[in-house]
Parts: sequence; structure tokens; C-alpha cells
Amino acid sequence: MLLSIVLPLLNEEENIPLLYKELKEVLNSMEEEHEIIFIDDGSTDTSLKLLQDLQKEDSGVVVVSFRKNFGQTAAMSAGFDYARGDVIITMDADLQNDPHDIPMLISKIREGYDVVTGWRFERKDKFISRRLPSIIANKIISSTTGVSLHDYGCTLKAFRKEVIKNVKLYGEMHRFIPAIASGMGISFTEVKVNHRPRRFGTSKYGISRTIRVILDLMTVKFLLSYSTRPIQIFGLIGLSSGGLGFLMALIMTFQRQFFGVPLSDRPLLFLAVLLMFIGVQFITMGLLAELQARTYHESQNKPIYFVRNVFRKGQKPDNDDSV
Ligand code: UDP
Ligand code: MG
Repeated sequence: MLLSIVLPLLNEEENIPLLYKELKEVLNSMEEEHEIIFIDDGSTDTSLKLLQDLQKEDSGVVVVSFRKNFGQTAAMSAGFDYARGDVIITMDADLQNDPHDIPMLISKIREGYDVVTGWRFERKDKFISRRLPSIIANKIISSTTGVSLHDYGCTLKAFRKEVIKNVKLYGEMHRFIPAIASGMGISFTEVKVNHRPRRFGTSKYGISRTIRVILDLMTVKFLLSYSTRPIQIFGLIGLSSGGLGFLMALIMTFQRQFFGVPLSDRPLLFLAVLLMFIGVQFITMGLLAELQARTYHESQNKPIYFVRNVFRKGQKPDNDDSV
């Protein structure tokens, strides 16, 4: 079994030597083979130089250097593309995650889980700007996606390669991999991991990340629930809105026609018209989204189902994902 450790990093020059040393100690003590993939996300300090030096000395090190800063999600995505391992482990490169937790993650993978995520149960970050928004965000994400995890934001995670190869990432989406993957029917578990304060360098994020995460959550929720049947959601909103508007207009017409109630001083009329308009718009949008959904799935040959194995006479299971 080959492990790929994926480490996105941006300006972490002080952390790199310590991280590499600690990581090597842990990995060398394990029976599995390993490769370490650093993704330099457009660092402007000496990070890239340090990584290149490591790569010269250690053939197990792969360095992917970005032309500019594309963000942590993009860096992780690149790591997944270059990873050759059966199991892929993602980690922060700022020493906040503890490499000594890796064997525990792997033992869970060996138990049969497809994804193992870390839970920083004693998180060492600022309360107001970090831990509080994260607690709220985790609650919201858990209840909307139906995937209950305590800590979506923890980068320390282990994935079987089959999971990763089927997930495409955009925006701030790396934290939603378990939620996205749950739509594929994968099994996952959560383990408590060590979290350490940042000793060198600075954090690359502020409070604005919370908003971006919530926006991405809406996309994920939509993709999970309705990506193969968008008309079901748009159509439902459209029908209810249009139906309600139509009903209101009908009643008002009736009153005008048979009871002589004037329409000129009834603001409700505007609401009825608005609701009908919105209704038509939503239904048309749903139909367009249906077209889009077909393009999306068919142009990428994306199936609407995920097969674990095929059993057929005279054929070995061709998609055997037992590690
Ligand atoms: N990172 C990155 N690209 C970015 C921002 C961050 O590769 O645009 C890396 C960063 O170097 C670190 C990890 O992502 O290894 C987590 O970032 P950070 O420690 O700043 O986040 P925090 O722990 O404060 O949430
Ligand atoms: Mg950090």
C-alpha cells in the first residue's frame, strides 16, 4: 500500500524543515511505502527553494510549483492529480496538524473506511475569529448535508484513491469532500486528532472565509440533492409561487367582476403579478438547468451512479477497491 501525503503550502519557510523531519520520522516507522507531495501555491519567500533542496536529496518527495497563488483548494486538487498512492492523506504544512496522527488514520482505512477525517477537539486558534465561526459553520454544514462531522475544516484527512479520483473541487470546497463523497455512497469516520498552535509564519485566512464557506455550502447542497433533477427544486418553487399568484389574481378578478370591488387601490395585485412572474421564471430556469445537467453529466461522461464492483461470469471484479 502506497501512501501519498499531500501538503499545500503558501509562504511556510520556517515550517518546512521541521515539518519534513517530523513527517519522515513518522512515515519511516510505518510499514507502508510513502511519497510526499508538496504543492507550492505561489510562495514569495524561500519555500520553493527549500522544497527543491529536499527533493534533490529525497526521491520520495514531489514538488509541484504553481505559477501564482491559486488557493488551498486548487493546491489540494493538484496534489490529488499528482498523487499515485492507494491512500491519500492531506495535511496543513504549518505544523498545526500532527504527523503522529497518520498511523491512526491509516488503521481506520484498513478497518474498511473510505474516508477518515480529523476532528481538532482541542483546537488551538483564536476563539472569536476562528473557533466560534467554525462551530456555527460545522453545525450548519452537518444539518444541511446530513453528514454529521464535528470538524469539516480540519485538513488532516485520509482518503482512498477511488474517492478522490471521482471528486472535482472548486472554490473553498476541499472541506466538503466528505459531504460530496457521501453522495457517492462512501463510508467515513471521524477521529480525534491533535492540534497545535501556529509557531511560525502567519495564517492566510480571516473571518471572511466563513462567508465563502457558507456560499459553497449552498452549491454543495444543491449538487448533492438536485444536480440530476434541477426541475424538481426550481419547478417546485415556481409552481408554488405562480400558483399562489394566480389564485390571488383569480380572487381579485372575481371580486371585481361580480362585487364591483375596484382594483386600483389594491397593492395585493402587484404581489399577485410578481408571484406569477417569479413562478414562470423559476420554471424556465429549472428547464434550462435540466439541459445544463445533461451537458454536465454527458460531456464529462459522469455517471449518475457509482459502482463499487461488477460481478460477472468469467470476470474478476474490475473495480476492486480493497486495499
Ligand atoms: N495555504 C495555501 N494557499 C493559500 C492559503 C493557505 O496553500 O492560498 C496553505 C497554508 O500554507 C497552510 C494551509 O494552507 O499549509 C492552511 O492555511 P492556514 O494555516 O493559513 O489556515 P488556518 O490554519 O489558519 O485555518
Ligand atoms: Mg494553520
